[in-house]
Amino acid sequence: RAGYDLIVLANRLPVDRVADSAGADRWQRSPGGLVTALHPIMRAQRGAWIGWHGQPGPPPDPFTHDGIRLHPVELSEDDVDGYYEGQSNATIWPLYHDAVEQPIFDRDWRRSYREVNERFAAAAAGLAAPGALVWVHDYHLQLVPGILRRLRPDLRIGFFLHIPLPPVELFCQMPLREEIMRGLLGADLVGFQHPHGTRNFQRLAAHLLAAKTTGEVIEHAEGVTTAATFPISIDVATQQRLADDPQVRARAAEIRRELGDPQTLILGVDRLDYTKGIEHRLTAFGELLAEGRLDPAKTVLVQVAVPSRQRIDHYQALRERVERTVSRINGVHAGIGRLCVHYLHQSYDRAELAALYLAADVMAVTPLRDGMNLVAKEYVATRTDDTGALVLSEFAGAAAELSQAWTVNPHDLDRLKDAIVAAAHAEREQQTARMRPMRAHLRRHDVNRWAADFLNRLETPAGRGRVEA
Ligand code: UDP
Repeated sequence: RAGYDLIVLANRLPVDRVADSAGADRWQRSPGGLVTALHPIMRAQRGAWIGWHGQPGPPPDPFTHDGIRLHPVELSEDDVDGYYEGQSNATIWPLYHDAVEQPIFDRDWRRSYREVNERFAAAAAGLAAPGALVWVHDYHLQLVPGILRRLRPDLRIGFFLHIPLPPVELFCQMPLREEIMRGLLGADLVGFQHPHGTRNFQRLAAHLLAAKTTGEVIEHAEGVTTAATFPISIDVATQQRLADDPQVRARAAEIRRELGDPQTLILGVDRLDYTKGIEHRLTAFGELLAEGRLDPAKTVLVQVAVPSRQRIDHYQALRERVERTVSRINGVHAGIGRLCVHYLHQSYDRAELAALYLAADVMAVTPLRDGMNLVAKEYVATRTDDTGALVLSEFAGAAAELSQAWTVNPHDLDRLKDAIVAAAHAEREQQTARMRPMRAHLRRHDVNRWAADFLNRLETPAGRGRVEA
């Protein structure tokens, strides 16, 4: 039986459909660390990627892009509503992020989630060579390892969860709880961003399925599964190249001029998502201006809020609240030709983002819960002269590694304000003392190492650990 020796499954294929200058459609590689990290490995091993191509309805035929075989999976309009926007983004996403918004439970969404997971698993089963490595990604596809294990017991299956795995008490709200746990335990290796996720997984396996954990190995009714922590990272070399690019540096200087040469430029860069703590950050900033601890004439907050999941109610409501708060702050503290908050409901390319990172004196990353937060890592990697100040929520996965940041609990508004002021006033030596070790850490732990660590572990017999029948 022919087939691929390495298969990646993710909700999305690593390409986006874009119109070229002549108006014709073509595929373009998506930005993002995961795609960058996996690309060379997939090419070298002639791997295949299974995922959705981004539009409802019949998929294009499998095609090769940049040396990787892409196998589109069909999603109907109903699948997009039920599996994607419903179960994935209105049930699992909020529940796994500490239920900071109320998760919505719906049995039609669950049915759709199951069907789409079966479709992905069947596609992988049909394409994998004997004994192939299959790497399944993220919360959209948690049932896939279990289904695939039954279809193809010969495969070595890995799963990585890019978002947090919540504690037992929260996870157990989910009607699909046992099914998801059985799904994940179908993998030989399950990876998490943070030790908390790994620990929660072990506890859930014990609580729901009476499984027994010894070290990193979980013994359960169907076999054994290794659970371990693999914090994802960024493409540090590319980020440093951008940082040192004269055009990017010139653009950073231009941004500061365009903002009226503020004494302090504070930057936020997030998808417009309720997990990101954007409202907490705005409230803190508004109070600091009102109290005169930050000077409205000399301080600017640039908040990039990338449009996200705009058909989901939670996100529409958040947008209303954020935009009202921004206008209130500007209404009170701005002047003619001088804004305090520059709110950008737009998405920027990597070069413009790097220029923003270089221009910012303070980077404010204050999520209420975040699997990792790559923006925090990108800011650090961009500051190649070890200046700048990172304010970082302790609830971002990145806080486990970037421990020299100004770490905050974003719910503690007074401490959040203190941290922003301290970061804004930090002397250069203080900035360097914090930035240097963080940047050194990232140079040793980039996304290539992350992918290699996971795949090496999946290949080794310890990661395999299936009980033979
Ligand atoms: N990003 C981007 N353009 C923007 C804003 C963000 O390309 O205008 C990228 C950013 O560089 C980062 C990613 O989007 O790589 C966001 O990842 P993160 O882990 O911070 O958050 P997520 O959106 O995955 O929750």
